[in-house]
Formats: sequence, C-alpha cells, structure tokens
Amino acid sequence: MAVGWHRPTKLVIDTQAIQENVRNEVKRMPQGTELFAVVKANGYGHGAVQTAKAAIKGGATGFCVAIVDEAIELREAGITEPILILSIVDVSYIDLLLKYDLSVTVATQEWLEQAIDYLGHIETQEPLKVHIKVDTGMGRIGFITPEGAKQAVELVQTSQKFIWEGLFTHFSAADEKDASYFEKQNRRFQAVLAVLNELPKYVHVSNSAAALWHPESIGNMIRFGIGMYGLNPSGHELPEVYPLKPALSLVSRLIQVKELPPGEGIGYGHTYTTSENEWIGIVPIGYADGWLRHLQGFSVLVNGEKCEIIGRICMDQCMIRLPRKVNVGTQVTLIGNDHGENITMQMVADKLETIHYEVACMFSERLPREYK
Ligand SMILES: *Cc1c(COP(=O)(O)O)cnc(C)c1O
Repeated sequence: MAVGWHRPTKLVIDTQAIQENVRNEVKRMPQGTELFAVVKANGYGHGAVQTAKAAIKGGATGFCVAIVDEAIELREAGITEPILILSIVDVSYIDLLLKYDLSVTVATQEWLEQAIDYLGHIETQEPLKVHIKVDTGMGRIGFITPEGAKQAVELVQTSQKFIWEGLFTHFSAADEKDASYFEKQNRRFQAVLAVLNELPKYVHVSNSAAALWHPESIGNMIRFGIGMYGLNPSGHELPEVYPLKPALSLVSRLIQVKELPPGEGIGYGHTYTTSENEWIGIVPIGYADGWLRHLQGFSVLVNGEKCEIIGRICMDQCMIRLPRKVNVGTQVTLIGNDHGENITMQMVADKLETIHYEVACMFSERLPREYK
C-alpha cells in the first residue's frame, strides 16, 4: 500500500514515552524479573521495530509477537534479543524458527509429536526453543490439565530436539476490580507448577494488567504490551498505578476552509445541514486511514478548541465545524494534546464502543508514522 508521505496527515510516535513507560515498569518489578515487550500487530500500530528499539533503551530484554513474520521483521532490523511467538506456528515453518533463532509456543501434544517428526527429517541438529502454554481459564490455546502440561514437559525434555525455555499462561481478567477470576487462574497455574520437578528459564504469567495490579504474580518475566504504549489496560475500570504516558498522536492540517450559508448539506447523504452561516474545515483523513465513519459527531482539536466532525466521514476526507474562520494549513489534532486540551485513544474507543487496543490497531498502512 502507498504510504501518504505527501499529505499532512500522520501518526506521531513519541519513542521517549515508550522508553519511559518501560523504564517505570522495570523499576518496580521484583528483583530478577525480566520485561519482554509485546510488539505484535506492528507494535499495536505504533511500529514494531521503532517500539522494540525504544523498549530496549527502557530496559526490555526480550520480545513477544503473535506470528512468525513479525519475529522475522525484528530480526531483519537487527534485533538480537530473545523473541517468543505467542501463537501456534505450523510445524512446516520450524526451519524458519531455527534460522531466525525464535522461541515458539507449544499448546498441544500433537504439535510436539509432529515437531519431533519434522526435526528428525531436517539437516539442522539445532534444538528448538519452546515455551509450554497452559490454559488456566482464557479458553484459548494451551494445555488444560496439569497432567497434560507435565506430559508435554516430559516429551520436551526426553527428546533432545528442544530447549525447554519457558512455561506460561495468560490471564483473561487481570484488569477487573473483582480479582476472583484472576485468583482462580492463578491457583490453576500453581497446580501445574506443583506437579513439575523442574522449571525452565522463564516462567511468565503477567500481561500489562497483571504486572500493574498484581505485581507479586508468579514468574520471572512479564509480557508488557499496552502499558508500554501508555494506555491503561483496564480502560476506565482501575486507576493507573503510576502515570502511563501515551505514545501516539494523530495529526493533520486543514486543506480547505469555507463559509457556507444556512441550509447547505454536508457530506454523502447530507446528514448534516448548516443552520446558520457556518465555517467548515476539510481534513484529509477518512475511513481508508482507519478514521471510521462511526466517528461522525466526535470532535477534533483546532487551536486547542473542540470542533465537531459533521456529515459522514468519507474514504479520504472529513469535514469539521469551525468556530470561526481559521487559516488553511492550521494543524488539526485528532488524537493527542493541543494547547492543553487532550483527545485520548480512550475517548475514541468510547465513541466507537470498543477498547483502545482496537483503536491502536485500526490505523491503516496509508498513515505515515513519524518518530520523535
Ligand atoms: C497480547 C498479549 C499480551 C500483552 O497484553 P497487554 O494487555 O497488551 O499487556 C501478553 N500475553 C499474551 C499471550 C498476549 O497475547
């Protein structure tokens, strides 16, 4: 996809903020704990490589991604720290895992057996680094019983084809005021630990929410995602433990400003009609950039003043109502700070009836990312 380098609309990513968020978390982690920065989905839309580099400066010692290609992107950018792929990778790609020195998640006994078969048929004798995943209540990937996990561990340790590098689980509710489900998952993971005679290098359970609100959780590594980008994992549910610094802003500039008389329709379907003489500004961003049509009625900032998005959002442009004549070229802040006013990713998420995680991931490739 073509990136809009020659259009005044861009995401601005504050790499200092990422670094600071990581450093603040590293400072409060229990002794001997490592922080792996989660940079899946292009670093939650922030840019995986730049985020990873900032995270290293803040004290991250490894990375988590969702898919093989994301791991390869980091390796090709020169990142040498451990990288864990959090999802299941088809055994036919094991050669890539070895070539790029990637650690992979093991969630079923069948996968292990297939992997042993595959590793027996390829030339490289290098062992594959694996993290065994336990499903303690997320209902997603992983072994369900302590016996299942133990059996997998035994196979990994007897086969010589693996390095047992990790054991982990994932919480589904570490961001809730009521900690009972979190505790239940915790107990189930404890039950797995109880049947094992030995532990791997990394035992890890915490996402950002668990790291922030349950800092004494089991393990010696945390998988820190959303908090690194400066967003409260719980949305509105729980207060931040320390101030998280949002890293992403979205800005543009007015490309035309016009005064329309009363009774004029704005946008497709003329869903907005001017009721008096109104100053209208055109902003070059639309749903093809991930600025979704449902944001009609939301506001953006011009000179620190909130201006409503009026009429339907088009594919490449949208219209806003200005309080008065404003010069063409004036900055428009869609997310971020402007003259002390602030539009947060949470506010966008609220308007879209979703979570900021999804907002961060919705910005399309057409938006250039500028790093500062
Ligand atoms: C995405 C993900 C994380 C990171 O979660 P955050 O809430 O962004 O910190 C951690 N662990 C797993 C397994 C994940 O899929």
